[in-house]
Amino acid sequence: MSVLNQINQQLASYNAHLIAVSKTKTNEAIMALYDVGQRHFGENRVQELIEKESTLPKDILWHHIGHLQKNKVKYIAPFVHLIHAVDSWDLLKKINHEAAKNNRIVSVLLQIKIAEEESKFGMTNEELLLLLVELKTQSLNHIKICGLMGMASFTQDHHQVTKEFTTLKNTFNELKVGYFKDNPHFKEISMGMSGDYQLALECGSTMVRIGSLLFGNRQ
Ligand SMILES: *Cc1c(COP(=O)(O)O)cnc(C)c1O
Repeated sequence: MSVLNQINQQLASYNAHLIAVSKTKTNEAIMALYDVGQRHFGENRVQELIEKESTLPKDILWHHIGHLQKNKVKYIAPFVHLIHAVDSWDLLKKINHEAAKNNRIVSVLLQIKIAEEESKFGMTNEELLLLLVELKTQSLNHIKICGLMGMASFTQDHHQVTKEFTTLKNTFNELKVGYFKDNPHFKEISMGMSGDYQLALECGSTMVRIGSLLFGNRQ
């Protein structure tokens, strides 16, 4: 059985979805997965994403998964399926603005900082609360907030990773019954990569972002 089938079988029992992270990989490598049915692909560089989007089949659903600069939103707003890493009110407003220009409603996830290590992006609780306050005063009609995203520390310590994923799940649960109780779209938790997706699934992930396990290691 192929790796893709194995992962999909596992995901099915958790009701979770696979985003195949194709950054640095060729169109041929992407088409190999496309040809066996994969449609959701994730990229973290805008330039690479727009090049691939313009040359690959139009029914691919493109996810932007990493840190996104405000000045680059305009390039992906016409087609992006889901933006995973919204980490500020300014970025959210910018996405809304560019979505409106394209007559679209763009789906996004809010990125929460769950890793204890310094290098990871994402909002602290305070920053999240500030964003939610802004959102109450100014509704953004071209945005659909579909849930949360987080990246755990890069460590072999399963206990630590489980703790961080659980933090994200708990934050999600609080928002789901609180702030977003009237938003039926708020249902996704994007967490889990090649090295930790099984732990993420056990902690409630609905979307895993897997690259190297599917495509082989990146240079
Ligand atoms: C590269 C990347 C992934 C996938 O990483 P793998 O370890 O190759 O599975 C997932 N999420 C984000 C945000 C990434 O940048």
